[in-house]
Amino acid sequence: MKPLGPIPPGYGAIDRVLAIAGQKVTDIVAEAGSTPLFVYSSEHLRQRVSDLRAAMPERLAIHYAVKANPFVPVLDLFAGLVDGFDIASGGELEIVKGAGIDPSLVSFAGPGKRDCELEAAIRAGATLNLESEAEAERAIAIAETLGVTPRLAIRVNPDFDLKGSGMKMGGGAKPFGLDAVRVPALVRRVIDSGAQWRGFHIFAGSQALDADAIADTQAQTLALAARLARESDAPLPHCNLGGGFGIPYFPGDEPVDIATVGQKLGEQFEVLPEELAETEFCIELGRYLVGEAGIYLATIIDRKESHGEVFLVTDGGLHHQLAASGNFGTVIRRNYPSAIATRFSAEVQEEASIVGCLCTPLDILANKGGFPKSEPGDVVVVFCAGAYGASASPADFLGQGAAMEILV
Ligand SMILES: *Cc1c(COP(=O)(O)O)cnc(C)c1O
Repeated sequence: MKPLGPIPPGYGAIDRVLAIAGQKVTDIVAEAGSTPLFVYSSEHLRQRVSDLRAAMPERLAIHYAVKANPFVPVLDLFAGLVDGFDIASGGELEIVKGAGIDPSLVSFAGPGKRDCELEAAIRAGATLNLESEAEAERAIAIAETLGVTPRLAIRVNPDFDLKGSGMKMGGGAKPFGLDAVRVPALVRRVIDSGAQWRGFHIFAGSQALDADAIADTQAQTLALAARLARESDAPLPHCNLGGGFGIPYFPGDEPVDIATVGQKLGEQFEVLPEELAETEFCIELGRYLVGEAGIYLATIIDRKESHGEVFLVTDGGLHHQLAASGNFGTVIRRNYPSAIATRFSAEVQEEASIVGCLCTPLDILANKGGFPKSEPGDVVVVFCAGAYGASASPADFLGQGAAMEILV
């Protein structure tokens, strides 16, 4: 048997059926009409943000990275919980505007912004995190044509990365941001253009679980921001310190110790250099805020055996759960936390693989896990499905179509 990832806290059973936010998932499926279905818990999301705020220094604003989960009801909920939204495309700008979010709380990072995206962001009053000198020139020219003062920040490609992170976004040659040595000249150019100078965005990596590594990166980020502000000879109004807080997906993963991260950042804030004395700080988090608050439900359609192995074939699959299937930037496939939702408190009785309905051997949701004996009609659950699920999977593959999503 292969181990399954750890089930996040806050999930229990009612009448042996998995419950989320106090409701049996079978009731939620009945209400929604069918599976496959993503369910997100507003209770879980609220708790997450309030625990994080309690751990972090008061001076630190918390932004939500929309790409982790752009479901509009989730954005609506976050509008009342977080201090800002980070987007990565013109499409996400449309989504946040549609959700009624104030564009002045929005910053837009990401390489390859098209002129139409720059224009939409400048018109809306969102902050652009500039990824290159050429992008800066295009933004300045577009704003001039529009007769609007753009809000411009610079994304810095730091000289370090976030140790132990699942995805490195800084350190060395990268398509993201401007190499630190070139930043001061662009700061001068932005300020001289008459733009509203919004500061730095420094993002060094994703999915880190080690509090000391996150704290070290934050300390290095503050030092880099101070040095670049000094070299630019300009006050630094704002600094986005990145994020990178991960969640446990796999056997042996431990949650981030946010109390330690918050305490160390608080200590750093006590001894800020003069250049940063007036600076506002934020972090931007995606998966940490939404990942564990979401589950993915699929119904077993067929139970079959092949060469002595049991396969539970479901109506879901990698077209909604690319990451859980192991095909979204994973080197060695490991099992996400999963279970039989309709036999949640039952004992392990057999080894089985939960697979999807796609005609590809890649479509595995759980490989040789231990489960209670299950039958067609039972509902399976994949946990940690709140981030990079629905919107980060190829829903149209094989003509399957999107899963339903619901916020409870
Ligand atoms: C993807 C991304 C995030 C969110 O990453 P998570 O791992 O979901 O927290 C934040 N900032 C930037 C710039 C990103 O590209």
